[in-house]
Amino acid sequence: MTELRTLKVALLGCGNVGAQVARILIDDAGALAARTGARLELTGIAVRNVDAERDVELPQELFTADAETLVKDADVVIELMGGIEPARTLILTAMRNGACVVTGNKALLAQDGPTLYEEADKAGVQLSYEAAVAGAIPILRPIRDSLSGDRITRVLGIVNGTTNFILDQMDSTGAQFADALAEAQRLGYAEADPTADVEGYDAAAKAAILASLSFHTRFALEDVSCEGITSVTAADIAAAKEAGFVIKLLAIAEKLVDENGKTGVSVRVHPTLLPREHPLAAVRGAFNAVFIEAENAGELMFYGQGAGGTPTASAVLGDLVSAARRIVLGGPGRTETTTGHVPALPISAAVTSYYIGLDVADQPGVLARIAQLFAEHGVSIEIMRQTIHRDADSNVESAELRIVTHRARESALAATVEAVKALDVINSVTSVLRVEGV
Ligand code: NAP
Repeated sequence: MTELRTLKVALLGCGNVGAQVARILIDDAGALAARTGARLELTGIAVRNVDAERDVELPQELFTADAETLVKDADVVIELMGGIEPARTLILTAMRNGACVVTGNKALLAQDGPTLYEEADKAGVQLSYEAAVAGAIPILRPIRDSLSGDRITRVLGIVNGTTNFILDQMDSTGAQFADALAEAQRLGYAEADPTADVEGYDAAAKAAILASLSFHTRFALEDVSCEGITSVTAADIAAAKEAGFVIKLLAIAEKLVDENGKTGVSVRVHPTLLPREHPLAAVRGAFNAVFIEAENAGELMFYGQGAGGTPTASAVLGDLVSAARRIVLGGPGRTETTTGHVPALPISAAVTSYYIGLDVADQPGVLARIAQLFAEHGVSIEIMRQTIHRDADSNVESAELRIVTHRARESALAATVEAVKALDVINSVTSVLRVEGV
């Protein structure tokens, strides 16, 4: 039997994910060698504090505070420190030295992805980041490899567990956003500063990655139109529920033709109404899922845990084995292509259905005037429901109007809403939400 070669693996970070990666690398060394065709030797673990107590018992001699020296003598570097620096410099150094890199650092990829991808191309090494999108769910490699003979037309993803948990709490208990957020923080699903999650920034970073791989074009964070969930109210959720919908924060990337006939990709994150029977509507709690439509494969759905040390470590190990196999086989390999050259379209070019809530005066002819305004702007109404309220003190009646439109362009919808707002019979526009999957 031929002796297996040994590949040196350097691990940067030993927190939630890094500690589990180190444990699996050591405990499953035999199985990993059999699957890879090389022994994966963990040569060191760089941390800030080498004496800190760890979640997992690991050989103390592996720990070092000198990350720079560690990466210089590695075949594969696994970066699980998080943050921008020193992660960025260490990854660049590793690649320039010919090492393949595995990372889960979506913040860094969102900020500096293009520089890192170019450096990987230049150095002829693999840069993989399955863990950066939807934690444990194998989604990037299926898009890049399994679907490379197909054409993806649309990706809809629940890629942020915190916001899915909050919206699910609001849906199942009737809670307001602030109470659902407090519950998410109490259970450890939301951080003390939840901005990146609830404002949609984390999902936007993942949307840029999903769009880039799906449409073979590098999209940056600036190409993503982003709206979080802070303005979603319990009343929105209740109204959506009554109409047979659930509200989810979706990361969407889809090919579109804009008003001028130009083909491009709309990449966006926003709260979205989905019919309760849509597969993504069944994604509860902090789980993640990605729904893909491809020309030949049709509809596909990938579901699982979007975070957590051990689940995320699974995605990291998958990338490690793939990188190690490539080293064993030789040649630079090809991880992603950027030959799509499709421009990112602004949110005004998006085409979808809309849910609009209006508080209107209860007068004869109001419905007809509103319907006419929609028609004048080319937005056709699918459902219009009215509920009458009487104010107990003033005895004045007002009506709550809920409208679901057929698919229309965002720019036409925005113009319609502006025109509706100007009507004297409109007290307020209570919500405007996008609808998918109808
Ligand atoms: P973490 O628990 O905060 O661990 C970070 C580790 O990196 C710690 O061991 C820390 O050392 C080390 N570190 C940080 N700065 C360092 C520096 N300047 N020099 C040396 N070591 C440094 O992070 P995590 O939750 O495991 O996440 C790691 C990465 O995976 C992040 O990019 C994150 O976005 C990504 N990710 C995480 C999850 C998840 O569920 N946690 C899911 C998907 C992706 P000390 O221990 O000594 O402080």
